[in-house]
Amino acid sequence: MIRIGMTGEATTRSLRDSPDLRTLGGAFDIIGDVHGCADELRELLRNLGYDVRLSGTGEGRRAHVRTPAGRRAVFVGDLVDRGPAAPDVLRIVMALATEGQALAVPGNHDVKFVRWLAGRQVRLTHGLERTAEQFETESPAFRTHVATFLERLPIHLWLDGGALAVAHAGLKYEMLGRDTDAIRSFCLYGETSGEQDELGLPVRYHWAAEYGGRTAIVYGHTPVPAAEWFNNTLCVDTGCCFGGRLTALRWPERAIVSVAAHQVYASPRRPFGHPPVRPDVAD
Ligand code: MN
Repeated sequence: MIRIGMTGEATTRSLRDSPDLRTLGGAFDIIGDVHGCADELRELLRNLGYDVRLSGTGEGRRAHVRTPAGRRAVFVGDLVDRGPAAPDVLRIVMALATEGQALAVPGNHDVKFVRWLAGRQVRLTHGLERTAEQFETESPAFRTHVATFLERLPIHLWLDGGALAVAHAGLKYEMLGRDTDAIRSFCLYGETSGEQDELGLPVRYHWAAEYGGRTAIVYGHTPVPAAEWFNNTLCVDTGCCFGGRLTALRWPERAIVSVAAHQVYASPRRPFGHPPVRPDVAD
């Protein structure tokens, strides 16, 4: 059976960089869901020893970045939506990446945003309406640059001799270094039941409760009150766009660095915290 969707998916996959970067060692600063919070991102990067400046306006707007020796920034995705300055967040991340000073994986918000950039039919909800408004004044060249950058991101990252992996929403041990439709879905959305809750949001389960791998997995997607290790996994999404904090994990030091949100940019639909364990695993 030939499905048009599958053909499209395969084409998208072939564009993406490989997730297997085990040969890439060195120190990493892994940063949680930024969601358009450019001021907090600059403050966090400064606290981590990076030099970040933005200059110019309109088509001349640029980010200038300098990274501390021997370190790289790694973004867990959801760069856009909800916050006030998604274009500046992308300028900073792309400037770092261009100089080989940053890696990133896509989040579910970034993927939906790319579909909007491509002129596809998507609903302007969950903060995408703000990103769309912010991009109204951006040039076609910048939009193309952003779309190309986001489309090429590996679906997850396997790093540091295999000791560390980064994915947006979650990852299973047997998925490490691989990219299939099912793995892409797990990386972007985590473990879901396929149902919706009373708010119309996908029902999520706490995938990390079943994780038992040797590779430490750092992820975002689910805002939590604080980043805490659990079964060799760490969620670094501390809900900055909702008035929480923007958090980074320093690896291999395992130090946690975070800055407080300057404002509440959006109201959370659910309380912060991990979702429940899947019912058949709970007992
Ligand atoms: Mn998010």
